[in-house]
Amino acid sequence: MITLQSYVHGQWVAGTGAPKTLHDPSTEAVLGQVHPGGIDFAAVLRHAREVGGPALRALGWKRRGERLKALSALLHEHRDALLDIATQNGGNTRGDGKFDLDGASGTLAYYAKLAEALPEGNTLGNTLVDGEGVQLGRTPRYFGQHVFTSRPGVALHINAFNFPAWGMGEKMACALLAGVPVVEKAGTPSALLAFRIAQLVVQSGILPEGSFQFVAGSASGLLDLLGPMDAVAFTGSAATGALIRGNANLVQRNVRVSLEADSINAAVLGPDVEVGSDTFEQFVANVVVDMTQKAGQKCTAVRRILVPAALLADVQEALLERLATIVVGNPAQADVRMGPVASAEQLRDVRAGIDRLAAVAKVLRGGSQPVPGPGYFVQPTLLLANDSHTPVLHELEVFGPCATLLPYDGSAAAAVELCNRGGGSLVASAYSDDRAFVEALVHGIAPWHGRIWLGSEKTMGQAIGPGAVLPGSIHGGPGRAGGGEELGGLRGLALYLQRTAVQGDRAVLGRLFGLDAAPAS
Ligand code: NAP
Repeated sequence: MITLQSYVHGQWVAGTGAPKTLHDPSTEAVLGQVHPGGIDFAAVLRHAREVGGPALRALGWKRRGERLKALSALLHEHRDALLDIATQNGGNTRGDGKFDLDGASGTLAYYAKLAEALPEGNTLGNTLVDGEGVQLGRTPRYFGQHVFTSRPGVALHINAFNFPAWGMGEKMACALLAGVPVVEKAGTPSALLAFRIAQLVVQSGILPEGSFQFVAGSASGLLDLLGPMDAVAFTGSAATGALIRGNANLVQRNVRVSLEADSINAAVLGPDVEVGSDTFEQFVANVVVDMTQKAGQKCTAVRRILVPAALLADVQEALLERLATIVVGNPAQADVRMGPVASAEQLRDVRAGIDRLAAVAKVLRGGSQPVPGPGYFVQPTLLLANDSHTPVLHELEVFGPCATLLPYDGSAAAAVELCNRGGGSLVASAYSDDRAFVEALVHGIAPWHGRIWLGSEKTMGQAIGPGAVLPGSIHGGPGRAGGGEELGGLRGLALYLQRTAVQGDRAVLGRLFGLDAAPAS
């Protein structure tokens, strides 16, 4: 059994306190343990601010990008061994593990590429010009230019258990490129993968000392020490998110906080879609992937499947047929298509959640009954709502392989109303070739969603499904989804940068920020 350690202020520390155990969720075998306490968080923050931050910022944009590229290559080099850990400690199939790990290396590589187009630096150091400047005086001489600079603080990243590699990688990519040192806190149940990645990162020496620290135990107490130049990026449940947002120190010192919380994502089938068409096939395939990939433990997974009442019988049949082909079991076996949920706690929560849904919906397959043998297994569970407007269907996130069919009358207005009942979601997907329907839907749901994924006849075979978070598009959503915004190209750096309006002589600003020569006045 391995004891996970934290990498803090230049050393590996085992921690103190009663250990929490990490399991193989397929067999329930104990794999490791974490001691939750004993980290000197004041020293962690000092090390990041005084050692890591200055070293990172001294590199400039382009060379920080080169480090991200090297990190991406590092993950790729150790891919097979890391995938084995994802199977053992995460219950991931090979495909699930690749989704997490390749998502991490791909996002790091994406930001490395973006950095190639950034400046080396300029007389103000880590400054990025933000948009066009504006004339502020009577003549063009008095001028205003917005610029971004790296904040001399620390990025605390609190990650969920479901994406130990991608969650850490995508947050690191943005903060490190912005010139801000990171403290990565892993979600405990699956922390073995994050720990191994942390070991590789430290051993590689790719990042300057102090710019990467890793906390394997609890982050309790760390929030109370953060200051105005620091930022917290959290991914996890709405309940923990609310605790973090309400932390008195963070509120009092206006520490930036970005929350990615849970989300009751909807998939909408348009009334125009013919059974068996490419659009219908995409819809069915994507819903099944979302329900079963990572055993449904994806923040972007579909939980509500909106289907025109006239198409319900066909959709039901198609989904049940596909779900019946999903082999559930230990993902170490090659034929298995869906593994267990991550922990005994998750299993308990998922079963209880299915029971709550089953009180207002008919279970068409699966359900909360125990699966014989060891392991935290749940069968893919499809339900049909008795009444699509029942609040719990729009409020309860069952974080497992579970989704509910919600019949609607086929109008865009009804679909909009149901989608927005989620109270703010990360993503909604819509499948239709009817332009008027799509237009009305997009206008109606956009304010309540961070991302809208449109599938149609023309996109067949062109697009990765709605459950995948791509670094070029933002990830986050309003309301219960947390209100945060990550990724989206250079937008993802905003959490770690300060925007300042600099006003003065156009020629001075031009020299400071490398602007083109002033237009003739
Ligand atoms: P969680 O229980 O809220 O934990 C998330 C993280 O917060 C973990 O690292 C956890 O550490 C830490 N934590 C717990 N209590 C804390 C506290 N009082 N102060 C500081 N940190 C604390 O969520 P989870 O069970 O890991 O993840 C599942 C949830 O995450 C689901 O609801 C899912 O929808 C959501 N999620 C959202 C996104 C998104 O991008 N929006 C992505 C993935 C998952 P320990 O593990 O040590 O308790």
